[in-house]
Amino acid sequence: MRNIIVSKFGGSSVATATQIEKVRSIVADDRKRRIVVVSAPGRSQQSEHKLTDHLINVATDGMHFRDQRISISSQDSCQAVLTRFAQIVEDLGVDGKALLASLEDDLHTNLTGKQRIAFLASRGEHYNARIIADYFNLKGLPSVVQLPENFGLHVSDKYLDAQVVEDTFDAMEPLADGETIAVIPGFYGVTAGGDVAVFSRGGSDLTGALVASAVDAECYENWTDVSGVFEVDPRLIGEARTIPRLTFKEIRLLSSKGFNVFHLNAMMPCWERKIPIHIRNTNKRNDPGTVILSERVPEEGVVGIAQLNNVAYIYIEKYQLGEEVGFTASLLSILQEFGIQSYHYPTDKDDISVVVDQTGLTGTINDLRRRIESELKPDFMDVVYNLSILTPVGMGLKGNSYPIVAALKALGEKHIPIEMIDQSPSQVCFHIGVSQAVSDAALKILYDALIG
Ligand code: ASP
Repeated sequence: MRNIIVSKFGGSSVATATQIEKVRSIVADDRKRRIVVVSAPGRSQQSEHKLTDHLINVATDGMHFRDQRISISSQDSCQAVLTRFAQIVEDLGVDGKALLASLEDDLHTNLTGKQRIAFLASRGEHYNARIIADYFNLKGLPSVVQLPENFGLHVSDKYLDAQVVEDTFDAMEPLADGETIAVIPGFYGVTAGGDVAVFSRGGSDLTGALVASAVDAECYENWTDVSGVFEVDPRLIGEARTIPRLTFKEIRLLSSKGFNVFHLNAMMPCWERKIPIHIRNTNKRNDPGTVILSERVPEEGVVGIAQLNNVAYIYIEKYQLGEEVGFTASLLSILQEFGIQSYHYPTDKDDISVVVDQTGLTGTINDLRRRIESELKPDFMDVVYNLSILTPVGMGLKGNSYPIVAALKALGEKHIPIEMIDQSPSQVCFHIGVSQAVSDAALKILYDALIG
């Protein structure tokens, strides 16, 4: 383990000059913070769009926003990007002339197709890192920008969902050498052919985790605009607190069931090397945040409850279905073909139900029904919509059925009908399906019964 902290700052932490000054002061505060990974400027106010969205809009000739029914043309997005960076440069007082000219050239790239989208999408991180390194130097914090195209963050040529290539870890190791602070743009790497390819959205988290793993950092800090991972969605339950310590297993389960904290793939590189991830708030730097660890002793019961909305289940009845080898596999592969995400599939002798993402059924349900009917010949099939899955998670649930009993008792006492229950094979969480209409109320009841 190296005496070094990798600090990644998300979009809202680097959205304006004021925010970037907070970043500088946080970095200057601890000499171990020698590698800084930055996102593109995010929203500085709710009404604003992230710079990455504007850049993708430029790349797709306005289609990106049109698809979201937002009317911003490609030219307007181009202007928004230039204006935003010009403002940041001016407010920081760095000499940005050459940078802005180079940005303007990049915005008029001749690249086409996915290469064009990836290249342009990466420019937010690229220029922000260059500007931030200049600003650090201006303020007496010796820094150098380290670009993925130079140090060799190698990725596959899936341009918009790049995967890391193994040899990249060796290429990144020297980033920890020397005393100068390395400022690295997140979100992108380079293919064997030298093209830019981006990770999936939110992928700067992944860059930070890869670098932390490559240099064997003592900690990976993820600075954002929330004070950590909350026990439940604090917009629904005001008294929800941040969870001080979580295991990788728990955060993965919470994230896959509705918690929106951290890029899911970003966990793995740190998990493998047992590097703790510390989620902290740039705007409230003294808040303790949440530390994600390999293990936690003692293993408290329920630490958080996730809520996954907009799910449906497909119910299928067929005599002796349980005896038909390959029935479940055929059903799941049909869903996969239709691009429908499935979460659980409780099954029994004569029936099965698959819990799916409801949005995936829009426009395809009739074709899907026909396909299932012709291929699997069910005796009966139904689709139940508008469900919500509530998932209490905690390592201490293993071999401890008391919280399940307490959860069902509390919901029963308040007359909340339960549509589905299912315990995960690891026993570290269980799922309760309720109708969407009562989901928020059920969440509150579970919170009071299991955590609050
Ligand atoms: N800027 C990219 C995005 O908005 C990546 C990131 O912020 O992590 O998705």
